[in-house]
Amino acid sequence: MSKKGQQRSSTLPYLRVGLIGNPVAHSYSPRLQQAALDELNIPARYELWQTPTEQLLERVRSLCHKDCLGANVTIPHKEAVLPFLDKIDPLAERIGAVNTIVHDDDYLYGYNTDAPGLLHALLEHGIGSMDTHGHISLRGYTAILLGAGGAARGAAFGLAGAQVERLIILNRHLERAQLLATDIQQTYEGPVFSLSDPSFLIPHTSSIIINATSVGLHEDVSPLPAEVLAHFDADTFVYDMIYNPIQTHLLLQARTMGLRAANGLSMLLHQGALAFTLWTCRSAPIEVMRAALM
Ligand code: NDP
Repeated sequence: MSKKGQQRSSTLPYLRVGLIGNPVAHSYSPRLQQAALDELNIPARYELWQTPTEQLLERVRSLCHKDCLGANVTIPHKEAVLPFLDKIDPLAERIGAVNTIVHDDDYLYGYNTDAPGLLHALLEHGIGSMDTHGHISLRGYTAILLGAGGAARGAAFGLAGAQVERLIILNRHLERAQLLATDIQQTYEGPVFSLSDPSFLIPHTSSIIINATSVGLHEDVSPLPAEVLAHFDADTFVYDMIYNPIQTHLLLQARTMGLRAANGLSMLLHQGALAFTLWTCRSAPIEVMRAALM
C-alpha cells in the first residue's frame, strides 16, 4: 500500500476509486483496475460512477472523502472537470483534458495518462525508445494522426512531446485539424501539417499511422482508402485506438498488406497502469492487468 493509502484510516472496510462518465457501463476499466488492486492486496474497490453533467461538481467533490483514492474520467467530462480540481499536471493542462484524478491530503490533482499511455503502447509494439529517465522518444518517425477530436488531441501532444520527426494531422473537417496543429506548434518545433484529403498524404519511411477517429467502431469501414495505405513503406506501423472490435477494417487492410498493426487495447492497458500508479504509488502489475483484459 502506498504511504498515502497507509495513512488513511478508512471508515469503510475498503478504499474506493472509480470511473466518472456518462455512460460508464461498457467500460473495461473495472476489470483492469480491480485485478491490479487485488493482486497487490490493496483493500480498494473500483466502482462505476455514472454521472450526468449536472451532477459533475458534486461527484468530483465527493472524491475528497478520506476513503477515496481518486477517479478515472471519461466521455463527456474529460474537459469539464478541469475547473473543479486544485492542481492540473502541465501535460493535462496543455491537452485541456484530464482522465485521472488523484485525491491526496484533501487536494484533487488532475492528470492525463491517455497521451503517455499511447507512447507506452507504441513502445511495447517496438516503436520508439525509452531513456534512463523513462522518457519515450519517437525521433526519426513520421506520425500520421487520423482525427482531431479528444483522443487525437491527447495523442498529438504525446507524439510531439516524444519528438516525432514530423506530425501530419488528417481530419474530415480540415479546420479542426488546423486548430489542433496550431495548438501543437506552441510547444513543438517540428513540422506539423493538416489535411482533410487522404490522397494528399505523402508516404515517408518509418511512418506510424494512428487512427484516433471513431471510424471503424460501429461499421466495417476504414478511415484510410486502401490505395493510400498501399503507398506506404513496408516498415509502416498502423495503430488503431479502437479495441472493440479487436480487428477493425483498417487493421485488416494493414495486415493484408503485410504491415505491422495493433489495436487500442495496449493503450487502454497502459493509461490504466499509469493511473493505478498515480493513485497507489505502486508499480502496476501490467501482466495481471493485461490478462484481465483478455
Ligand atoms: P471524438 O468524438 O472527440 O472525435 C471523433 C473523431 O472521429 C473526429 O476527428 C471526427 O472527425 C472523426 N469522425 C467521426 N466520424 C467520422 C466519419 N464518418 N468520417 C470521418 N471522420 C469521422 O471521439 P474521441 O476522440 O473521444 O474518440 C475517438 C476514438 O478513439 C474512439 O473510437 C474511441 O473509442 C477511441 N479511444 C481509444 C482509447 C484507448 O485507450 N484505446 C482512448 C480514447 C479514445 P470530425 O472532427 O471531422 O468530426
